[in-house]
Amino acid sequence: MNILVINCGSSSLKYQLIDSENEKVLARGLAERIGIDGSMLTHVPAGKDKVVIGKAMPDHSEAVRLVIDALVDKEHGVIGSLSEIGAVGHRVVHGGEKFDRAVLIDGSVIRDIEELSSLAPLHNPANLIGIRACAENMAGVKQAAVFDTAFHQTMPQKAYMYGLPFEYYEKYKVRRYGFHGTSHDYVSARAAELLGKTREKLKIIVCHLGNGASISAVCEGKCVDTSMGMTPLEGLIMGTRSGDLDPAILDFISEKEGLSASEMNTVLNKRSGVLGLSDGLSSDFRDLCDAADQGNELARLTLDTYCYRVAKYIGSYAMAMQGVDVIVFTAGIGENSFGVRERICSYLGWLGAVIDPEALKKRGEDVVVSKAESRVTVMIVPTNEELSIARQTLALL
Ligand code: ADP
Repeated sequence: MNILVINCGSSSLKYQLIDSENEKVLARGLAERIGIDGSMLTHVPAGKDKVVIGKAMPDHSEAVRLVIDALVDKEHGVIGSLSEIGAVGHRVVHGGEKFDRAVLIDGSVIRDIEELSSLAPLHNPANLIGIRACAENMAGVKQAAVFDTAFHQTMPQKAYMYGLPFEYYEKYKVRRYGFHGTSHDYVSARAAELLGKTREKLKIIVCHLGNGASISAVCEGKCVDTSMGMTPLEGLIMGTRSGDLDPAILDFISEKEGLSASEMNTVLNKRSGVLGLSDGLSSDFRDLCDAADQGNELARLTLDTYCYRVAKYIGSYAMAMQGVDVIVFTAGIGENSFGVRERICSYLGWLGAVIDPEALKKRGEDVVVSKAESRVTVMIVPTNEELSIARQTLALL
């Protein structure tokens, strides 16, 4: 069966059509600038050249229509008709405390996702627009919601409560939820599989280092802690997000700079992280590593600060789980950046990690980078959130 995986943002829609039998990607693509001038669809059929279609997409429904047209097109299509799409799996960012697993979408699930929009005002409404656009254009095709937060719902209460008045939890559900759950789940399971072990017997720390970055402690198959919080702003330093900081800084800076709460929010989400720390040099680690290699001191400080934070989290999660068997690097930076992995691994010796420097240079493939005598196994495992969404969707049918 072919499963269409959709990741819908407020002005974009990413998709992959996956054949669930052999788990091959038949086509992938991205509709951009939906509702804005200059909208376009980039469609990449497997084994053929990519096509860029510049066409007005006033709304997401039109974007879904164009995606379907591209998928069934005589030249660059990969299926004969719409009937060859068996189901749609949607990435939904916030499932709150309501969803601890993927579900098939019906009216009550839509209402729940809507209600949870107060916790993820930028993401859940956009995800719902995608769900509705697919319903309009693919009547009768089953749709599933796969939540970014679901895998983290196994965290014990002591890991998800904040030191705030309890009434904020009771009234507004202010707590840690964590994100990138689909990736943490997939990568921890894949790491165990690659090692020929069962995840239920391992203590695994997954470092998902992409533009957004989070780290999780997966103890015997269950997430017991993760670095992102009620929103994806907490935890590690990211491309443009600050991660952890003293909450009193917000008030201090907003007073000094005359910024409103919403302007402060923009500073923390869009102007901070490695972009801010490097004084605007770049949010991309390729640029930062190149600059550091060429002797740029601020780029070096940025990388050192970033990696130190990751190492501190690894240390605290080893304590939380009372040990660690496997540490995994994944996502754009984790899979590709030797400079970042090398810096983080320089802290791991006390855990008994013995790194193979040649293996650590590999990129974008499943590889164990620690030596046989290492007390903890260190690995690179590329993530594949789309495949995980397709698998979870199939499992629900
Ligand atoms: P997201 O899905 O959160 O947008 P990704 O997981 O795709 O992010 O990661 C994107 C980031 O990965 C880029 O911003 C870049 O910093 C980093 N990256 C990608 N390739 C490389 C590379 N070869 N070396 C260093 N960093 C890389």
